Amino acid sequence: MTASTRGESMVVVMAPEATQENIDNVVGLVRSAGGEAFVSRGVSRTIIGLVGDVNDFDVLNLGSRNGVLQVMRVSAPYKLVSREHHPARSVIRVGGMPIGPDTLSVIAGPCAVETPEQTLAAARMAMDAGASLLRGGAFKPRTSPYSYQGLGEEGLKILADVRAETGLPVVTEVIDPGTVDMVASYADMLQIGARNMQNFALLQAVGRVGKPVLLKRGFSATIEEWLSAAEYIAQRGNLDIVLCERGIRTFETATRNTLDISAVPVVQRLSHLPVIIDPSHSGGRRDLVLPLTRAAIAVGADGVIIDVHPEPKAAQCDGDQALVASDIRGIADVVTILSPIMGRTPTMPAAGRIH
Ligand code: PEP
Ligand code: MN
Repeated sequence: MTASTRGESMVVVMAPEATQENIDNVVGLVRSAGGEAFVSRGVSRTIIGLVGDVNDFDVLNLGSRNGVLQVMRVSAPYKLVSREHHPARSVIRVGGMPIGPDTLSVIAGPCAVETPEQTLAAARMAMDAGASLLRGGAFKPRTSPYSYQGLGEEGLKILADVRAETGLPVVTEVIDPGTVDMVASYADMLQIGARNMQNFALLQAVGRVGKPVLLKRGFSATIEEWLSAAEYIAQRGNLDIVLCERGIRTFETATRNTLDISAVPVVQRLSHLPVIIDPSHSGGRRDLVLPLTRAAIAVGADGVIIDVHPEPKAAQCDGDQALVASDIRGIADVVTILSPIMGRTPTMPAAGRIH
């Protein structure tokens, strides 16, 4: 690689009508020039990220090949998730539920799956809050090894049962590359937590599995580091990524983390991926969840992910930030009132579900 092209790379944007043969042809040409090509299929188009010396790719005349819409040199550390070559903001579908620029998604549920009864009760609270997706951790990435670590696969089975009962698709965290396939066999969306945002083996593993991913921002990660982490997932073929701002660590101790509200418009300018806010883990306090939810919708977030618990005092983790039944109406009202002002339709659970 010459000095002038160090750090530069190329992206090939395929036309919507491009065939598999067209894609294979581009990949073959890149490989024959000594490069590597990573194919990422989005909902509306396929993008191929090239790794290698861009001078070698220049001579391939990729722009004139069948099915190729555009070839771009990019110098940013992330390309496939960048808005530069993908001006339209993406819509990601999770179990049929859209997350994107025209809707407002509420994801809610317990921090941790503890029992079938607790999870079902929390799922009902989530539906009352207007949630279209159920969250719940079966593998908990705890700061202390002595804290509750989650039920593991048993917890995933509970989530699957609650999905069958309520119809809510399930978002759950995966913390180990070795269990990605197993977790994906139960989940509708895989969550990568703040503590694992730069676990590159894990990012690549969820990139290969073909399920939507919720990528939380590391608590000391810059936006560039966060988008670069998303690029690891995209590079392995999965562009169905939703970003989640969950607060960053600052000098302030009054709150658990400091919600970086400006991350939403900054990310939306840099990336085509949806971005949601976690008002529960950022504030770490029940009384802050409603005001931070208002702020999230007003700043233009594509959704919120909220902890709820039928009995927070008995919760195995994060009880202080879990909403109780009497808080739920407030969330539902804020979503209903503010979403249309922001030009969004709340994503509601499908009709006819058991509640
Ligand atoms: C969670 O959502 O349960 C969680 C552990 O969040 P974070 O990774 O943002 O701390
Ligand atoms: Mn939590």
